[in-house]
Amino acid sequence: MSLSGEQAAPQTATPADSPRTLRALQPLSPLPRLERDMLWMQVLGVGRSWLIAHDTDELPLDKIQAYQALEARRVAGEPMAYIVGVREFMGHEFLVSPSVLIPRPDTETLVERALERVQNIPSPRILDMGCGSGAIAVSLALARPDAHVVASDISTLVLAQAGLNAQRLCGKVEFCLGSWYDAVAGQEPFDLIVSNPPYIAVDDEHLGQGDVRFEPRQALTDGSDGLTDLRTIVQGAGPYLRPGASLLMEHGWGQADHVQNMLRQAGFKQVISYEDLAGIRRVTGG
Ligand code: GLN
Repeated sequence: MSLSGEQAAPQTATPADSPRTLRALQPLSPLPRLERDMLWMQVLGVGRSWLIAHDTDELPLDKIQAYQALEARRVAGEPMAYIVGVREFMGHEFLVSPSVLIPRPDTETLVERALERVQNIPSPRILDMGCGSGAIAVSLALARPDAHVVASDISTLVLAQAGLNAQRLCGKVEFCLGSWYDAVAGQEPFDLIVSNPPYIAVDDEHLGQGDVRFEPRQALTDGSDGLTDLRTIVQGAGPYLRPGASLLMEHGWGQADHVQNMLRQAGFKQVISYEDLAGIRRVTGG
């Protein structure tokens, strides 16, 4: 070993054995090894099995620098999904960018309940309002190839991202630009309307923590008490629902009773809330 080693710039490194990278990621992540490997996979364009098989290989300096740049973003708190550009949802890989919310496992509850609602309806018409990455709409379209799925959003940038996902995953989805029901004005009514709207209250400290800080605020909060968009969706649904159709919405902890009341006031007879994987009522519908 050279005594002057500290001054010499390293020309090579080993991806799987670098304690430095683990130390950097350790404070942020419960899975620092996985995150480190994901960053290397992104830099090298290889799979995890390659990394495991090549753990003693030496890497060129430009790759190390590329890794360090990604790692610095992660250490600054940026979500992994934005750095690597993908997130899995309902078994499909969705492309994500900072213009859209990162799909959450919780939202799979909404998709699963939505699929139950239309299981006996042939070729159902389904609307997903505020579609973001398209995770919900595309997953529904893939699970029900006979369905006509319409996805709306108020942002063209967001619709472009959702369109990319629909194209890549072959979900047949019709996209409409506009705010809530304005986006589908004049369309035939639907058998099912779903939405994961912004429902976090603007003063909720959650907005200032972790990954959420990097996500589009417009997708997270209504700028008020968190119930404004849920109310708009419930109150405007009537003309867009076929007889016997369902409306299902994701919402936050502690909002189920509020959403149930909104639905009853709007004339929905059978109102029900469903629990997420943590046993919390997070999806309510009528
Ligand atoms: N579930 C998300 C969160 O808690 C919020 C999603 C939303 O507002 N629609 O970060």
